[in-house]
Amino acid sequence: MQTYLQDVESICTRLDQSVFFMVRVLSRSLQPIRSNPKENLEEILKRFTIPGRFYTRESNGKIRCFACALKCVMSEGKAGFCKVRFVKDGELRVPWGYVAGLQIDPIEKKPFFHVMPGSEALSWGMLGCDMRCFYCQNWLTSQALRDPLSGTTPLEASPEQLVKLALSGGAKTLVSTYNEPLISSEWNIDVFKAGRREGLHTAYVSNGNITDDLLDEIGSYLDYYKIDLKTFDDTKYRKLGTRLERVLHGIEILVEKGIWVELVTLIVPGYNDSMEELRAMARFISDLDPNIPWHVTAFHPDYKALDYQRATANQLIRIAEMGKEEGLTFVYAGNLPGMVK
Ligand code: SF4
Repeated sequence: MQTYLQDVESICTRLDQSVFFMVRVLSRSLQPIRSNPKENLEEILKRFTIPGRFYTRESNGKIRCFACALKCVMSEGKAGFCKVRFVKDGELRVPWGYVAGLQIDPIEKKPFFHVMPGSEALSWGMLGCDMRCFYCQNWLTSQALRDPLSGTTPLEASPEQLVKLALSGGAKTLVSTYNEPLISSEWNIDVFKAGRREGLHTAYVSNGNITDDLLDEIGSYLDYYKIDLKTFDDTKYRKLGTRLERVLHGIEILVEKGIWVELVTLIVPGYNDSMEELRAMARFISDLDPNIPWHVTAFHPDYKALDYQRATANQLIRIAEMGKEEGLTFVYAGNLPGMVK
């Protein structure tokens, strides 16, 4: 079988350098959000909002958000499913002006294998998510407003500060990741606009729960888009918080728009690893465009899935071989350095 792995050693070296860089820049640049002891996380984050742009107003005055495919309808004082977009004084308020994770690391770690290999990316996340995956590998940020055990300290930031950090760290791409970028699109697009002025590329690492309306608004600011195609079973998707057809539609419209798409499926043994399901997924991708890269990556027990087993290297290799059988040109058995050859 062909091998589909990047040069692990060079990436590890680059990762070490990235961590040193991150510690250095964070200690000098961004400050933790100041709060008083009586404020909880939700109250703190409400201070870091601006009026939203991605919504319509219903005839009854309620607000319908279209930042993700859930299209929540909200009345005064209510928040959407993601809990970070809410209506106050008749207007939609949305996250802006902080990050809850920031790092410079190899673009291959996103993973993007087909865009500027060997380059660095400035990655950030905020807090919250429009889905609730029980096996989330980033739950400390994604479930911050849903699960009292989660949460990390947010840092105050401006688009210009992030761009400056990217440039000083030699990054070529700005990537919104760690939590779901769609739900904070106003902030992300403002960072991307500032980055584009300096020649930086832009990317989302997302669950793909995107709408046509949002893509019309933000598509011209996006260069690359990684989608986590979690399962090919609609019942499972509904339990995670959306529908299979919405994510498949998201992939299709991004490809149609000419945005570079790479797909990832995190293999969770006993949950989404049936070869029948994965073969149907590979066929869908291959029928859409056989040159879309598909990364199959290994789950590690986390969050509410501590009793699930890790995916093995052999399992990833078998799935990658199946993807090739289904006509895909680029299938990568990933994130088990030195074990997947
Ligand atoms: S981003 Fe999605 S979950 Fe959040 S309010 Fe908008 S439609 Fe609802």
